[in-house]
Amino acid sequence: MEPIPVGVSACLLGQEVRYDGGHQRDRYITDTLSQYFSFVPVCPEVECGLPVPREAMRLVGLDGEPVRLLTIRSGQDLTDTMQDWCQHRVEDLAASDLCGFIFKKDSPSSGLHRVKRYHPGGQSSQRDGRGLFAAAFTERFPLIPVEEDGRLNDARLRENFIERVFAMKRWRDYLSENPDYRSLIQFHTAQKLLIMAHHPEKYQVMGRLVAKGKEIPRERLLERYGHLYMEALESFATVKKNTNVLQHIMGYFREDLSSDEKAELLEVIEEYHSHLVPLTVPLTLIKHYIRKFDVSYLKSQVYLSPHPAELMLRNRV
Ligand code: SF4
Repeated sequence: MEPIPVGVSACLLGQEVRYDGGHQRDRYITDTLSQYFSFVPVCPEVECGLPVPREAMRLVGLDGEPVRLLTIRSGQDLTDTMQDWCQHRVEDLAASDLCGFIFKKDSPSSGLHRVKRYHPGGQSSQRDGRGLFAAAFTERFPLIPVEEDGRLNDARLRENFIERVFAMKRWRDYLSENPDYRSLIQFHTAQKLLIMAHHPEKYQVMGRLVAKGKEIPRERLLERYGHLYMEALESFATVKKNTNVLQHIMGYFREDLSSDEKAELLEVIEEYHSHLVPLTVPLTLIKHYIRKFDVSYLKSQVYLSPHPAELMLRNRV
């Protein structure tokens, strides 16, 4: 499989670019995800011209004040320098076809969620800011999946993020093949169960869009579909929604199963629904029956293998 281009805060790869000359290597990123992703490292503070080591900085601005990036000891204002660099860098990154970005948490440049914003005097702070580069990136690329290193330790967030990275790659690959209306129907059909596991209502909206697709100019149709696809997958595939999908799948070979097989499968789905076993347990049995009864429609469903099994993402959700 061709590696998927994903941006990453450079210090997470082990590059010694932090203000104190150190790094924040994340082994899951460097040892596991690197087997599937080709990383594009970005260190906003070094790339905008600051040295290593350098004075630490933070976001300043509460109570409706504009947020500034200031060094902590000398109060140097780096906001304009950083924002000018951000505007150029995000345009450069457009050429990299990134399918995701992993940001370093808590950083006033790279942090994505709950970065501290301080009162100018430093006496109080709120955890609701976003690093300046992370803000510029998400504004320029609202559909590219983004996540932080710390949150990747949460099995549910990790599975959702990685699933979206692979989905973005599938969508980009599809677009690169000069798609027509017929191939959009095929794409949509193959994603059906995956989308239903995330956002059944949006699946209906997408279905109506595809049904009317011939009346819509091609570029507009693809742009609208791509938006809906990535937005739908942002919703979590909950146990309840996955259970509905598993029961739906069972309908395709219910008649082929013996009463013992049917009872066993229902029991395993119920155990998953009761949080006693992870998603991979009912799916393993289902895949066995899909092979056994050669259900070709289900074989083409992305839902069954949306990312490599070796990542074991469904062993914990
Ligand atoms: S958090 Fe961002 S700005 Fe800070 S060292 Fe890492 S990559 Fe550079």
